Amino acid sequence: MLPDSILSHLTENYGLKIKSQQRVSGGSINRAFRLLAADGDFFLKYNASAPPQFFEKEARGLQLLKSAKSGVRIPEVEAFHNPDKASPGYLLMEWISEGSGTSENSFTFGRELASLHQARSETFGLDHDNFIGSLPQKNNSHAEWPSFFIEERINPQLKAAVNNGSIDKKYLAHWQRLANQLSDIFPYAKPSLLHGDLWSGNYLFDSSGKAVLIDPAVYYGHPEADLAFTKMFGGFSSEFYQGYESASPFEPGFSDRIQVYNLYPLLVHVNLFGGGYTRQAEQVLMGF
Ligand code: ADP
Repeated sequence: MLPDSILSHLTENYGLKIKSQQRVSGGSINRAFRLLAADGDFFLKYNASAPPQFFEKEARGLQLLKSAKSGVRIPEVEAFHNPDKASPGYLLMEWISEGSGTSENSFTFGRELASLHQARSETFGLDHDNFIGSLPQKNNSHAEWPSFFIEERINPQLKAAVNNGSIDKKYLAHWQRLANQLSDIFPYAKPSLLHGDLWSGNYLFDSSGKAVLIDPAVYYGHPEADLAFTKMFGGFSSEFYQGYESASPFEPGFSDRIQVYNLYPLLVHVNLFGGGYTRQAEQVLMGF
C-alpha cells in the first residue's frame, strides 16, 4: 500500500482522487504502483530512502529523452516530488499499458535508438549530475570520451569498490594499464544523448507495439556505451541490432570493446549488489 502521506500529497497538490491502487513488480530500486484515478490511470514510484532530488533527476532525464524526438515513446512525467516532511520522494507518470513487441517493433526500436543517438552535445557529460540505480553518477563535461570514461565513470566506481573492500586494490594497476590504452581502443564519436542504463528491464513495448524507454541515467556519451549496455544481460533481439545498423552501422571491432564499456555497469553492480559481479569485474580487469 502507498503511504497515506503520498496519497494526501497527490490529492492536495494535484487534485488526484485515487480510487484504487495495485502494486507493480519488476523494479529493482523503488516501490511501484498503478493508480486508478477518476481521470485515468497513473504509474507512481517512490522510495522512502531515496536521496534528495532522486526523482527530479529521473524526471529531467525522461524529459531530455523526450525532447530528442527520436520516435521512441517516453512516458509523460506528470509530477515529481523531492522528499520533505509532508511526503517521501516520488515520481508520477502516465500509465503505459504493456503489450508485446513483434520483430518489426524491435527493428523500429533499434532505428529509434540510433535516432536518439543523433541528439548531440558539444562535450561529453551533462549539465547536471544524476543517478544510476541508486548510486550517484557524475557528469562533469569533457572534450574527449576516454577522459570522461576514466574520470566520470570508472574511477569513482572502482575507488568505491576498492574502498569498501569489494575489489582488491591490486586491480587498480590493471585498470591503469587499460586506461592508458583507451584512446586507441575507443573509435571517435561525437557526444550523443544516451539512455545510460539500457538493459532489458528498462524498456517495454506498449499495447500498440511501440518501444518505451523507462528509468534512464542520461548523459551525452559514446553511442557504443548504450549498445554495449544492451548486451549486459544476454542482449536484445537480433532485429533490434539490425534496425540500429540500418540507420547507423557499427564500427569495426565493436564486439571486442563491449567488455570495456560494460566495466562501468559491472562496477555499478558490484557497488549495488556485490556477489558474482565482483568476480566478473576482476576478470575483465585481469585481461589488461
Ligand atoms: P525501478 O526504478 O525501481 O527500477 P522501474 O522504473 O524500472 O523501477 O519500474 C518498475 C516496473 O514498472 C518496470 O519494470 C515496468 O514494468 C513498470 N513500469 C515502469 N514505468 C511504467 C509506466 N509508466 N507505466 C506502466 N508500467 C511502468
